[in-house]
Amino acid sequence: RARLETMIPAAYGRLAAYAAGFRKRVKSHFSHPGKRRIFWEKALQGPFAEMVFAGRDRAAQDYLERSLESEADEAVQGEVYLVGAGPGDPELLTFRAMRLMQQADVVVYDRLVSPEILDMVRRDASRIYAGKERSKHVMPQESINELLVRLAKEGKRVLRLKGGDPFIFGRGGEEIETLSGQGIPFQVVPGITAASGAASYAGIPLTHRDYAQSCIFVTGHLKDGSVNLDWLMLARPNQTIVIYMGLLGLPVLCRQLIAHGLSATTPAAIVQQASTRNQRVLTGTLETLPDLTATAHLTPPTLIIVGEVVKLHQRLAWFEPEGDLRAGELAASKKV
Ligand code: SAH
Repeated sequence: RARLETMIPAAYGRLAAYAAGFRKRVKSHFSHPGKRRIFWEKALQGPFAEMVFAGRDRAAQDYLERSLESEADEAVQGEVYLVGAGPGDPELLTFRAMRLMQQADVVVYDRLVSPEILDMVRRDASRIYAGKERSKHVMPQESINELLVRLAKEGKRVLRLKGGDPFIFGRGGEEIETLSGQGIPFQVVPGITAASGAASYAGIPLTHRDYAQSCIFVTGHLKDGSVNLDWLMLARPNQTIVIYMGLLGLPVLCRQLIAHGLSATTPAAIVQQASTRNQRVLTGTLETLPDLTATAHLTPPTLIIVGEVVKLHQRLAWFEPEGDLRAGELAASKKV
């Protein structure tokens, strides 16, 4: 409680009392509860609240009167918040993401958004799953784009919640292109991308003065059994390569990197479900990682990191949830 009190301006009590005095009038002015809520949100986050906080009670009252009069009970304009939910740990959400999650009328979310994070979206917001699973696209991209447009046109505040960062292998760009074409207001909130999440939580710095001066993010998505990448550009010394969507293509990826000049002993890691309780980290080399992975029964999502920096994992790993123990060890430790 003490901590909350330091975060919430003391004047909130007075603000609440003021608002309470207006409740009946606002209620009779707006027939639709959704519109009422939007009115209050605007008032409580805008100049009205600032005036009350500043002790300008008279001005605050006038302001609310005026905005009530000018705010006709007409159709509301919807908007879309394209929000990055980070790699899984809810604590990695931004304040802005949290705030918009509390304002949304409807959330359209991906498979990668963790249940804990979904739980933090406003309770009465409706939830639409637009999940994408490898080779099993639940909803084609065009339908998602259209869905966002339709919901916003209905006047809803739509939270498009995506794993990681919406602008990194997230098709966030395509989704807001459609919105902008239709003149629908939107905002984009960055999230912690899997590369940053996995690197931090596995203790593998992506750059390091001694080992890597550059870092490159690529998708290792398999297409007809091959991966189409600029191998020469990737197989450079002193560079960390982060591969998204690379689990299936891992053997091809490692083979190609070796064929294009990286040493077979280049350290490589695969991180399962980074930043969650199910995080697991396997390390090896370009030569050994595919076999290690084949027998490890990893559960997606997984991220691959290649480069000398992987060596640092042994010393810098700090996040080792119980999931790291072998199932047997875990069972044994529970018995004791
Ligand atoms: N926009 C997302 C990436 C979407 S592509 C981002 O910025 O992170 C999906 C791929 O991201 C997965 O196949 C996997 O390679 C990676 N990924 C996402 N979350 C992950 C996690 N928690 N741990 C490991 N890899 C993850």
